[in-house]
Amino acid sequence: MCGIAGYFGEKENTDKVLISILEKLEYRGYDSAGIAIKQGKKIVFEKATGELKNLKEKLKGVEFEKGGLGIAHTRWATHGKPSVTNAHPHRQGRVYLVHNGIIENYKEIESFLKKRGYKFSTDTDTEKVAALFDYNLKQEKDSQKAFEKTLKALRGAFAIVAFVEDENQLFLARLSSPLVVGVSEKDFYIASDALALSNFSKRVIYLDDFDYALVGGFGFRHFSFKDGKQKTSKIEDFDESLTSAEKGNFDSFMLKEIYEQPDSIYSSIAGRIKNGRAVLGGLKDVEKELESAKEIHFVAAGTSFNATLAVKDLFESLGVPVFNLLASEAKYSKARVREGTVAFFISQSGETADTKEALKKYKEAGALCLGITNTVASSIARETHAGVYNHAGPEISVASTKAFSSQIAVLILIYAKIKELKLGLERKDKTLLKELQILPDILKKEIKKIDKKAKEIAKALKKANSMYTLARAGELALAFESALKIKEISYIHAEGYPSGELKHGPIALIEKDFPVLMFFGNELYEKTFSNAQEVKARGAYLISVLDKTHKDAKKISDRYFELNYIKSKANIILQSLPLQLLAYHLAKEKGLNVDKPRNLAKSVTVE
Ligand code: GLU
Repeated sequence: MCGIAGYFGEKENTDKVLISILEKLEYRGYDSAGIAIKQGKKIVFEKATGELKNLKEKLKGVEFEKGGLGIAHTRWATHGKPSVTNAHPHRQGRVYLVHNGIIENYKEIESFLKKRGYKFSTDTDTEKVAALFDYNLKQEKDSQKAFEKTLKALRGAFAIVAFVEDENQLFLARLSSPLVVGVSEKDFYIASDALALSNFSKRVIYLDDFDYALVGGFGFRHFSFKDGKQKTSKIEDFDESLTSAEKGNFDSFMLKEIYEQPDSIYSSIAGRIKNGRAVLGGLKDVEKELESAKEIHFVAAGTSFNATLAVKDLFESLGVPVFNLLASEAKYSKARVREGTVAFFISQSGETADTKEALKKYKEAGALCLGITNTVASSIARETHAGVYNHAGPEISVASTKAFSSQIAVLILIYAKIKELKLGLERKDKTLLKELQILPDILKKEIKKIDKKAKEIAKALKKANSMYTLARAGELALAFESALKIKEISYIHAEGYPSGELKHGPIALIEKDFPVLMFFGNELYEKTFSNAQEVKARGAYLISVLDKTHKDAKKISDRYFELNYIKSKANIILQSLPLQLLAYHLAKEKGLNVDKPRNLAKSVTVE
């Protein structure tokens, strides 16, 4: 995870550029931050634990000139606890270095270097890379060669930016962790994602796996560390998405993003429904394969995985087996791919390490691999055979909300497309696509009412330590997603279950006032109602998400969100507003930072 920033140039205040980039990357990690700036012979090197503001505090009063070079980092610890010592940049000998990812063979490197006199003061894998580069600088006269040799010796995942104290250039490299360079005449801006560069340059170069680069007064030089050959860089225009990464009038990105959903759903489907048919340009070249698909696999993690569960029944109605697989496990699966397997890889950032690993395996096994991501030109977008963008706009809050709903919207469109290809136009789902089109207006109408209700309910629940979130079949994804969201940001233990499973064990925990959040669907209303009665009979505090017609359920609920359900699968997006807002208000009631929950970070770029 973690965010990397770099700058080489003439026209900017290096410290300001680096801090501004870090501010936009803080969602990727925020347990500590650090900076190293070189201007002429002077090097300023500072690190601090906690959020970026602590680093800014330390830099107050330090004088900087314009131009020079620098690197900076906001960390999500994998190796070694968050502390000033473990914070990046790491310095060894002449080298200053920041890193995103995990170096799997760092122990080997450490013992190799210890025998050669190196001493280590941190618990990180990264410090060993800095030392190895320093060691190679002593062996090779040429620093480029030393860098290339260092990269060749690393196993694992990394994005690296480094400099050598007596040289005026930056060293960049990438393997499995993203790195982007913004170009503006003689100035170069480096970050883990392109959005973080939008204040400085919209012309960007994406580094690919096994790429490394040198940035200096000579410009940008691009190489591969696989074969050492120079590459021609492709400069692309970065199209900043529809919404800016600013909080506006909201107290948090999470609340802003929840409220943005009418717009983000609108842009996810805009231009993609014509005459009642789904039109997906990104899948045009693979329509034949979709038509003959024999099996559909969804591979994703966390909230994205839950989005795939939300549409499982829809895709099953196509008459093909559907598998929803957690990426962290799917990457180990053997022999799952058959002829006609179509696999979807879903990730908001398009950089989720587990999902990328699984993608590699599926590609090797010969499956048609399709991406669904919210980030243009992300790794998954580039490495899949084809795909569909969410177009939900940047999602900054660690807890995903608008990406979840846009993933469901896009999956519904994909379902409609495959149905048309497989079963012909006469079987098209008119209601489904029509309802998807009116959904933004429905959400707009309902959101304030739901928000108010969620606030009241959160007040009643804030002392809870543990709760269940239950649903059945078509709504099951909501049970899992609420449990995840509530855990993530309010730190209340919440467990999602199919309500039919209650009697097979979980019901043992139900006692007086034990909170249960229950989602009622139209289809299995009576069965879910029986489960609601079972928990009520044992004293549970029942909070229901239901339709205005669900009168009996309303009567036995202690609290409820009453919605105006629509008929089709698109309803699940409406039903997810209560869970998102309830999680948000629970965290607020407990005085927690909703955008930066402990131990988490936004793009999970490590395995
Ligand atoms: N492995 C490095 C560390 O623990 C970098 C982690 C990251 O990518 O956030 O410091």
